[in-house]
Amino acid sequence: MDKLVSLCKRRGFVFQSSEIYGGTGSVWDYGPLGVELKRNLQDRWWRAMVRQRDDIEGLDSAILMHPRVWEASGHVGGFVDPLVDCSNCKKRFRADDPKIKGVPGTPDAQCPACGMKGTLSAPRLFNLMFKTFMGPVEDSAATIYLRPETAQGSYVNFLNVQQSTRQKIPFGIAQIGKAFRNEITPGNFIFRTREFEQMEMQFFVEPGTDMTWFEYWKEERMKWHQGLGLAPDRLQFHQHTRDELAHYARAAFDVQFDFGGSLGFQEIEGIHNRGDFDLSQHQQFSGKKLEYFDHATNKRYIPYVVEAAVGPNRTLLALLVNGYREEAVEGETEGRTVLGLSAALAPIKAGVFPLVKKDGMPETAHRIADELRPHFPVFYDDSGAIGRRYRRQDEIGTPFCITVDGESSADNTVTVRDRDSLKQERVSVDRLRDYIGQRIVQ
Ligand code: ATP
Repeated sequence: MDKLVSLCKRRGFVFQSSEIYGGTGSVWDYGPLGVELKRNLQDRWWRAMVRQRDDIEGLDSAILMHPRVWEASGHVGGFVDPLVDCSNCKKRFRADDPKIKGVPGTPDAQCPACGMKGTLSAPRLFNLMFKTFMGPVEDSAATIYLRPETAQGSYVNFLNVQQSTRQKIPFGIAQIGKAFRNEITPGNFIFRTREFEQMEMQFFVEPGTDMTWFEYWKEERMKWHQGLGLAPDRLQFHQHTRDELAHYARAAFDVQFDFGGSLGFQEIEGIHNRGDFDLSQHQQFSGKKLEYFDHATNKRYIPYVVEAAVGPNRTLLALLVNGYREEAVEGETEGRTVLGLSAALAPIKAGVFPLVKKDGMPETAHRIADELRPHFPVFYDDSGAIGRRYRRQDEIGTPFCITVDGESSADNTVTVRDRDSLKQERVSVDRLRDYIGQRIVQ
């Protein structure tokens, strides 16, 4: 993880937020390469979930919502962790932290950080939602929350979307957006942060068909993660036990990825059968009917929801962990670092280099880069030895490197080097766009 964090900073994938001020706890900024990678990941999700299907509609609902939404959803009452504070070292712990000895709030309890006895407070409930105020007056009537999940925006818009698109059940609502959670134990780089993004899809189904759809979405979502290039043996399902299940949930599976090290297998996506909990709650709290009328069967019902909720930040970390490798190169003393991202997700698709800075090679290379740039992101580089330039692209995951050399002016060809096999092929300049274009669509 340390190597990844340093690569991400050095090459412009991820920076610590407000770094020059010492950083903000567990908040990260995405640099020029990181934002491309994240966007490629989000576009891929949007294509698979919205554009390529006729039974899912897209939505972009606001981060700020009516405060009653969070009462109905259970977040005001239930999205809480019991915490204890140490009055000596001011550190805060979850009350169930196994490192705490004794019962917090009693003289015998010992702080796991500073070791003092009797300084831990009794557990207090701590809500994970960020609170702020709407308008100029900071009182309880003006309290508003930063949304801790995007899903509620889809539930409260269920009828708006259904009626405006004339969708029939079963159908889904998908959205990508920011979510905020005042996590007690954030960390592991971008794995658990206080500001993050979610790609969530809520699929509304007729009660009784929910488990069939649940199984369908489980399989679909696992296939999607495999399609990203995540190694199949690093992916697994984890079924929620009775203790882990939310009280309203009828079934839940996590897609887990093996992050290695002390993290091991961890959730990157949750697939939940939420029954009619969400729409029933909003119907009750808003007083507005959220039923669906099925004209074909003359039935009226509150649909059940099957949710597939994935975090692009956490999945991006999985891609980095999955792709990072250091290897020796035959015939060379210096090894190389490679980010084995799939060509479809790589932030830059091709490096374009003149072999030397003379004999018209830079001009030809510039011309090639300019011709390719409207079709996919390319990077022109003429500084340093060619081997160095290859290495720089390898460690950011660029799948192809195009080199203009002495033969190029004679026969209008260049070499194209493959990041993984290191094989070089001579390709006609006129064919470059198709040659690379075909390989980056997966
Ligand atoms: P966890 O158990 O890890 O806290 P969760 O079960 O609360 O996650 P969900 O509410 O199901 O997570 O959210 C769906 C997805 O959003 C998660 O699978 C994860 O990829 C992402 N996610 C949730 N919380 C965070 C966070 N604090 N930082 C980054 N991503 C997150």
